[in-house]
Amino acid sequence: MDKCSNCGKNKVFLEGLCKKCYNEKNPLVVSFKPVKILVCFGCKKYFLKGKWTRFSKTEDMVKKVLQDRIIFNEKADISSFKIQTIIPKHSIGHNVKVDFRAVLTVFGVYKGVSKPIKEEYELKSRIIYILCPKCSKFKSGYFEGILQLRNVDEDVINYALEKLKQSEKRGIFLSKKKKVKNGFDLYLTKKGYIHELAQELLKKFGGEKKASRKLFSRNKQTSRDIYRVNVLFRQSKFRKGDVISIDGEPFKVSDITSRIKIKSLKTGNINTVFLKDLGVNSTEEIKETVVSSVFPDIKVINPYTFQQEKPMNPKNIKAEINQKVNVVVVDERIWIV
Ligand SMILES: [Zn+2]
Ligand SMILES: [Zn+2]
Repeated sequence: MDKCSNCGKNKVFLEGLCKKCYNEKNPLVVSFKPVKILVCFGCKKYFLKGKWTRFSKTEDMVKKVLQDRIIFNEKADISSFKIQTIIPKHSIGHNVKVDFRAVLTVFGVYKGVSKPIKEEYELKSRIIYILCPKCSKFKSGYFEGILQLRNVDEDVINYALEKLKQSEKRGIFLSKKKKVKNGFDLYLTKKGYIHELAQELLKKFGGEKKASRKLFSRNKQTSRDIYRVNVLFRQSKFRKGDVISIDGEPFKVSDITSRIKIKSLKTGNINTVFLKDLGVNSTEEIKETVVSSVFPDIKVINPYTFQQEKPMNPKNIKAEINQKVNVVVVDERIWIV
């Protein structure tokens, strides 16, 4: 039997060499080099092939980068491989460096040989946290416009801030939050998103939205003017379910956007009016009371006088005795809401 031409000991496996010597000369992996991965801690993107790309799980991202670096031996058919990473728990921040180990396990067969070979490689790599160009712009106070929230309640502020936290994933940032009279100014890094968010607030909370733009500077290369955008959102004074009175007639607010839908308690008709055209500043107090009689007419207890009274609503309203109902009193006349 032929002996290995290299070590002279074992029997020949391929090309005159024993398995051990052949494997040493022909590893399954030709190249697997340690990597330095740049990660932006502002927007959770990593730098690969000249581009900043979003990722969700660090492990998966690292594997992807490493996988890209492996060069397999062309003399072998790689049947499978896996990369395991052990990334220590770490906090993230500017210039934080995290060293980690990665283990690559490869299975393959050399051409012409049926016996599979398993190899293991271990290497140290490093994650370095920095800010991508976009995020460093934002960190230096960059903004494209201001969302001006006025007369807003806490729900609106919280909703907007929550949305902005989510928008970071899209690379849109709140670069400054400023308390002003009657509200807040939110400085945002993306013009288009200011409109989008204002529109959403309008739909959800009702009110008015006004946009204006301000000349900021001129781009010398393109000779184009650069504008900043201000979008004002003023929350409606009214909420769904409020009752307002117009010339002594009560209306229930049924919907609000920049227009407000109101339903007459007298006729049941629904009207749509612009908030700014509505010369009403306050709502009527809604009180709970009980139905005291249903025959021949519905009567309720006036919550202010405790007298039994016939409501002004049309006759087709149905109620049972002792039923709880909401009422408003407008010009000393009582209405079921
Ligand atoms: Zn040998
Ligand atoms: Zn970034």
